[in-house]
Amino acid sequence: MSKVMLIGAGGVAGVAAAKMAQNPDVFEELLIASRTVARCDAIKADIEKRGFAKNGKKTVITTAKLDAMDQAATVAMIRDFQPDLVMNIALPYQDLAIMDACLEAGVSYLDTANYEPPEDAHFEYSWQWAYRQKFEQAGLTAILGCGFDPGVTQVFSAYAQKHYFDEIHTLDILDCNGGDHGYPFATNFNPEINIREVAAKGSYWVADPSGDKPEVPVENRKAFDKGWWVETAPMAIKRVYNFDQVGEKDMYLLHHEELESLGCNLKGIKRIRFFMTFGQSYLTHLKCLENVGMTRIDPVKFNGVEIVPIQFLRALLPDPASLGPRTKGKTNIGCIFEGVKDGKSVRYYVYNVCDHQECYREVGSQAISYTTGVPAMIGAKMFLEGKWTEKGVHTCEEFDPDPFMAELNVQGLPWQENFDPVMVP
Ligand code: NDP
Repeated sequence: MSKVMLIGAGGVAGVAAAKMAQNPDVFEELLIASRTVARCDAIKADIEKRGFAKNGKKTVITTAKLDAMDQAATVAMIRDFQPDLVMNIALPYQDLAIMDACLEAGVSYLDTANYEPPEDAHFEYSWQWAYRQKFEQAGLTAILGCGFDPGVTQVFSAYAQKHYFDEIHTLDILDCNGGDHGYPFATNFNPEINIREVAAKGSYWVADPSGDKPEVPVENRKAFDKGWWVETAPMAIKRVYNFDQVGEKDMYLLHHEELESLGCNLKGIKRIRFFMTFGQSYLTHLKCLENVGMTRIDPVKFNGVEIVPIQFLRALLPDPASLGPRTKGKTNIGCIFEGVKDGKSVRYYVYNVCDHQECYREVGSQAISYTTGVPAMIGAKMFLEGKWTEKGVHTCEEFDPDPFMAELNVQGLPWQENFDPVMVP
């Protein structure tokens, strides 16, 4: 008898809930709790309309109103519902409050994005890694960043390390969205989090800064664990790549959270980079919004009230959960590795291609929410089936990748391999 409490009711949470309802043998009871209960009710109604069931069984779904920043209310709800796992698919700002509530109520935890303080557009694992001992001592598991990137990209890395390499020397993570929603400017997941991420400085990770020859002025080099961060201006490094089933796209180097944990966990690693594709219209709009101050995260006085410009912008932009019917095309997200096995040089590319319209037909969402919500459900399934239960706080490459990789193929995100990929210069 497995019970899950899901916090959040946006685009990603809606997909995770629908995929749980497709696996009622594992997810017998689901409580969807979020700030706006009407959104929880809408997810429940949509799932019931689709009639997901297996062998005559259906997930029993209830909903509740919850502000997850209110730790006492979260603890009380956990104690009342008694879930086996709490899934945090609200926003990264809530991570620490929900982890504290889980510790207090004695339940394990999973999320899809690492902690970011609201007043500082900056994310890193250190805040959540600081909870390692507390979770270990409480005999609880916390699974961090279990979406696609972060998430599946780390499972891909663990799989490559386990099966194809003695040492991985370089890793490029490529996130391509070839979808078109027809708007001049919209974001595919929470606009505030998305814009904070892409407006930030780019960075990549290298083991040895003296051997690295950066092509753009390097603003900063910061020592981190086994290596160094090399920081560049936003969008300063551009590459063009020809993606399977999508075609040629411009992609730009971004800082991304999984670089930090993979830099610690991949044997022999010398360099890790993350690239994401952007169209010219998106970049032009973003530059303009930045130039006029609309992406600012500090409060400004307007007509006697304080507003945060990026939060006001969020209210004007289309809700990512509403892009489903309009978005056409495919995503292609994967990892290219280069390293050695038995003394021989090896190259390996593993990726998933996902079609926006197929996702919409299945669960009513576009592919970005789908490629995040499906891995979140699989991570929860791994935990509930006793396959990913190491105590403490862990990122996805720290668990056995094999059962997760098998689930990707049956839960809607099949992967493909290429042993002779074109490398990114
Ligand atoms: P949305 O903005 O669509 O949804 C966020 C949800 O969280 C909303 O229902 C919101 O409620 C709820 N929420 C916000 N604050 C609180 C609070 N204090 N208490 C309770 N509920 C709250 O976001 P997405 O679904 O697009 O993204 C969800 C998460 O997934 C984010 O953390 C995002 O960064 C992450 N993500 C991860 C990816 C990956 O590959 N790893 C990719 C894409 C996203 P309300 O409706 O009231 O605003």
